[in-house]
Amino acid sequence: MNNTNKRTIAILGSTGSIGTQTLQVVEEHPDLFEVYAITAGSNVERLIEQAHKFNPEAVVIADESKYETLKEALADKPIKIYAGYDSICQIVKASPIDIVVTAMVGFSGLRPTIEAIKAGKAIALANKETLVVAGEYITQLAIEHKVPLLPVDSEHSAIFQCLAGETNNGIEKIILTASGGPFRTMSMEQLEHVTKKEALRHPNWSMGAKITIDSASMMNKGFEVIEAKWLFGLNADKIDVVVHPQSVIHSMVQFADGAVKAQLGTPDMRLPIMYALSYPTRLASSFDRLDFEIVKELTFEKPDTERFPNLRLAYEALAMGGNMPCVVNAANEVCVAAFLADKIKFTDMSRLIERAMQSANYTLTPTIEDYFDTDADVRKMVENWI
Ligand code: NDP
Ligand code: MG
Repeated sequence: MNNTNKRTIAILGSTGSIGTQTLQVVEEHPDLFEVYAITAGSNVERLIEQAHKFNPEAVVIADESKYETLKEALADKPIKIYAGYDSICQIVKASPIDIVVTAMVGFSGLRPTIEAIKAGKAIALANKETLVVAGEYITQLAIEHKVPLLPVDSEHSAIFQCLAGETNNGIEKIILTASGGPFRTMSMEQLEHVTKKEALRHPNWSMGAKITIDSASMMNKGFEVIEAKWLFGLNADKIDVVVHPQSVIHSMVQFADGAVKAQLGTPDMRLPIMYALSYPTRLASSFDRLDFEIVKELTFEKPDTERFPNLRLAYEALAMGGNMPCVVNAANEVCVAAFLADKIKFTDMSRLIERAMQSANYTLTPTIEDYFDTDADVRKMVENWI
């Protein structure tokens, strides 16, 4: 912590869904948090707005063509301005930063997270793709540099909260809840014809486009199983998924004595974000409270991997290990982009991902370079198929 006793944070992907909600958390507790750096991909207008409001030390835009616009708009402020992806990987190392919120989307989150860990920064991890792609490498690196990986994902935050005070108590299993997404009750035949507009309408959560599609296809839950393995050091047979359409229980832990602990709440990402930033302290919040007169019932269903094969594919990739989850992630990113561009059908995504798993070069003991090569190769391969 720096000498003001505030936690100084860098937000990677400040213009996105998690990024903007992180800034709302800062606004809840301006006495406790200070924004050192914010970064975006290409949304320069929102980045400028945020810079005016939060007065960070530095802003970074990945899209270099937006550099001049950013510089001009902030000319009257003492803010350091950078452009390019490499600058995001650099800024995370700045010495005043205590904690880096990784809220970039997809594989792009990996390199800056590695740099932040190497620089000894605590990680508030939203970018689950980082752990899907390179979970073993990242968790080892975090241990080596003695930095905590604090979960932001609501399910993992729920588990993390359930585990508070349970240091030496055996976990029998964890149970990740899944809303089931907008297509939960649809038949295989109906799934063939769903549109991107329908897929982007999540019943409970408002999120960025990529994760919203991942939620509709259940790939998000598959990724969360892999994320849970690395965050909590559990084998796949100790990670269950249950469909819980109300999204009130955010996840559960079953202990050796059979007791099950759950964390409940409204579907509001600001709570898990705030918990990651203030851990181990719980801070007061103005967020909506759960109203049990409105909730009324909590229901549960078994996930259907016939209609939603992505969950099965993710478990298979996890069982194979090595670079296979990286293969799945790369294929999925290409598929989601193609679906959002109306180039493929919703159900084509799982087919292409499975084909990528069969066709990619598999290695059981990848180096960090292998992950970058796998990502690039699989993208090229799947793009060619499309
Ligand atoms: P959004 O798409 O809303 O935001 C993504 C952010 O990353 C934006 O600031 C975007 O900039 C930036 N970005 C995208 N690509 C690049 C790139 N190549 N280089 C630099 N910056 C980039 O995503 P979400 O906030 O929904 O999700 C962020 C991460 O958090 C994902 O990994 C997701 O899985 C995870 N997550 C999200 C949850 C949610 O509720 N939204 C819940 C749990 C996890 P720009 O705006 O300029 O495009
Ligand atoms: Mg989640």
